[in-house]
Order: sequence, then structure tokens, then C-alpha cells
Amino acid sequence: MCKNMQTEGSFAPWREEALKRGYASSLSLPLLSEGKAFGAVTIYSKQPDSFYTDEISLLVDLTAEMARGITSLRLHSQHTRDEQQLRLQLTVLQSAANAIVITGRDGAIEWVNPAFTKLTGYSTAEAIGKNPRVLKSGMHDKAFYKEMWTTILNGRVWHGEVVNKRKDGSLYTEEMTITPFSNQEGAITHFVAIKQDVTSRKQAEEALKKSSDELAGSNLELQQFAYVASHDLQEPLRAVAGYLSLVEERYRDKVDEQGRLHIAGAIQGAERMHALINDLLELSRVGTRANLIKPADMNIVLKTALDNLSHRINTSGAKVTHDALPMLNVDSNQMVLLFQNLISNAIKFQSDQPPQIHISAKSNAGQWEFSVRDNGIGIEPKHYERIFQIFQRLHTRKEYPGTGIGLAICKKIVERHGGRIWVESMPGKGSTFYFTIPDKEA
Ligand code: ADP
Repeated sequence: MCKNMQTEGSFAPWREEALKRGYASSLSLPLLSEGKAFGAVTIYSKQPDSFYTDEISLLVDLTAEMARGITSLRLHSQHTRDEQQLRLQLTVLQSAANAIVITGRDGAIEWVNPAFTKLTGYSTAEAIGKNPRVLKSGMHDKAFYKEMWTTILNGRVWHGEVVNKRKDGSLYTEEMTITPFSNQEGAITHFVAIKQDVTSRKQAEEALKKSSDELAGSNLELQQFAYVASHDLQEPLRAVAGYLSLVEERYRDKVDEQGRLHIAGAIQGAERMHALINDLLELSRVGTRANLIKPADMNIVLKTALDNLSHRINTSGAKVTHDALPMLNVDSNQMVLLFQNLISNAIKFQSDQPPQIHISAKSNAGQWEFSVRDNGIGIEPKHYERIFQIFQRLHTRKEYPGTGIGLAICKKIVERHGGRIWVESMPGKGSTFYFTIPDKEA
């Protein structure tokens, strides 16, 4: 009886079985490959001590032959597996969307994949043996290529953006990674370059940058225009208002009732224009003034706003309360203006109850969310967005005075700080204005 036993685990049951069947002796011979046992052959006999020396040497030879056969079969199947693995990897390289080029150490191209021929216009036959220099566009200086070669010749991976030239002369931009490949002795023998065509992305980025530059330029021009116009308009307006006051003072008795009404109307018009110009100036200042972002205690910011509004708060009987507010990196002057506008609206748009205003702040996902809540007349949901646009008011000037610029200023201030402003309200139920300020370590 002869059975190839590969492991100890499978050996024991066979021995027991053999003894049960009446076999009295056994001879185990190792199966060796390069001097290492990878299994054993055990021969059982019904006779005790039944193996002769010449039989044993024959069995040893036979086992050695068997071991060679098994080893060669194993190697063969390993080769087949390796070959299959290689073919699989080659298929991946061939079908990759990225262009792949393998060059020898001398720089000559040895292998390209179909994506390379598609990208460059060079067929495989045309590419093989050529130096990738044929793709040079002339858009990079010597230092650029020097840095690339120094990196890869030192065995490091190079990654960068390269403008290259196709066979038809057109230019394209690629993102390229070159990896040096070394033999077992550590000497670089090849370079593998993987390239991704980013031409359309680059073009889109450039177009976007151009139009955003243009937009930024015209925005700045508009802001400067608004600033200069409102600033320069103030002067003649002051003169008009001054002369009107003089006319009213000196000629009040010389004109009839109708005339006095006309003069009063003109004065009111001048005052309104003064308020409009002031608000417009404030709005354009938010955009043009340099960002003076500094750590500020928002409790002090709010206190300044309340001090500025003290007269209105006292005469209206408003009750203003607030929670503890955080320290934040902000333009504190603009924050004062923001609170001032929101609180003065909360007083202005009061209901028949005395105004009750509460300011609070809570930290939420890397930003602070502030709220200014009132018990005033409220706003219909359909106007939530509109009120933040310049000159958009929901009431006539007779009902509630104002220019319709205050909330546009608030929006601009909040957005300049990288935040958002919105309102939640119901007519008759009061309004809550919310704004967020990113929590940049104060
Ligand atoms: P103004 O106050 O000069 O009218 P704003 O831009 O500050 O301009 O406000 C725009 C409009 O939003 C106001 O005319 C008003 O209709 C509405 N509004 C603003 N704040 C409140 C508030 N707290 N309660 C009710 N309505 C408000």
C-alpha cells in the first residue's frame, strides 16, 4: 500500500486505518524540493521488518523521482498562473483611459498604450524608439525639464502639469506622473509615465477665471462709482438743503400758504435724499473698505450698537435682552452696523406692544449662528428673500420711514464675513433675523 501523505494532520488517520487492517510495519520517505520536504510517502507492510536495503534504496529513488515530477508540475502551474496574471495586467494597461508610456533609461520609448496614441496622434509604430522629446511644445523652459530629470534620475516620482504638442502640432495639457523603475540591483532601467489629458478642464478653469476677474473688476468699478457718486452728491445736496432752510427762515412771511407747503416739501425731499445718499454710501463702504478682521468681543460690539441706539430705545420703551456672546474674528465696525440695522428695524416695525428684542448666539458646525428676535408686525413668508434686496420695502414711507437699504447692508456685511443671513417670521407673530459668522479662531 502506498499513499502520498502531504501533512501530519492527514497522516495519523491513515496509520490507524492501516493498523486496523493488519499492516505491521511502515516506511516513510520525504518528498524533497531543493532540500526541503514538502510531503512524505509512507509504505505499509503486513510483515514486521519487511523492507530490504535494496528495496529501500529503490523506494528512495522512486520517491525522489516523484518529488521531481510533483515540483515540475507545480512550477508549470505557477508559470501559467503568472502568465495569466501578466496578461490580465496588460489588458488593464491597454484599456486604461490614461496614456501610459514606458521609456528606457536612455529615454527611448519602448511601450505605449492605445490611450497614448489617441492623445498624441502618434501610432504605436511611430512612437516606439522615439524620444518623448517629440512631444515638446516649447512652453516650458530648460529649468523645468532639468528639475524633472533630476527628480527621476534620483529615483523619485515626478508629478506635474505639462503642456505638450500632438503630432498635428496642436497643444494639450496633461497631468503626468513619472515613476522610475529599478532592477533587482537597484539600478534604474525604465521610466513609466502616466498622463491624463486635462486640456478641457484647464480651458474651462481659464475661462472661469477670466470671467470672474472681469466680474470682480466691474464690481469694484461699480462700488467705486457708487462711493464717488454718493460722496460727491452730498456736497451740492448740503448746499440745496442749506439754501432751502434760509428761504424758509427769511421768506416764510413773504410767501402764501401754498408757497410754504412747497418749501416744506422741498426740504423733506432734500432730507430724504440726504438719508438715501448716506445709506448708499454706507452700502458701498462695506464693499470698498479694506477688511479689518480682528478678534472682537461680540458683547462689546452689541453694547456699542445699543449705545448708538439709546435714544430710540428709550423713546420707544423697547426692552433689549441678550445671551452671552462669543469672541469672534470680525470687522467690529461692520458688526456694530449690522446689529444696529437689525435692532432699529425691530424697533421701527413694532406692533401695538412695546418692542421686546432678544439677541442670542449658538455655535453650530464651525460657525456661530446669531439671532435677533422681535415681537413686531412680522413678515409674510413670500417676502423673506425680497427684503434683503436694495430699495425693497413692504410699506409706504408714510407708514414706516426708511430707505430700503438697511437689510442690503446687513446682507453684504454678513457675506463679506463668509456667512449667511435670513429671516423667519409670521405676520403678527414677530420676526427673527438669523445670521452666521464662521468661527475662525478669535
Ligand atoms: P428700511 O428699514 O429702510 O425699510 P430695510 O432694508 O432695513 O429697509 O428693510 C426692508 C423691509 O423689510 C422693510 O421695509 C420692512 O418691510 C421689512 N422689515 C425689515 N425688518 C423688519 C422687522 N424686524 N419686522 C418686520 N418687517 C421688517
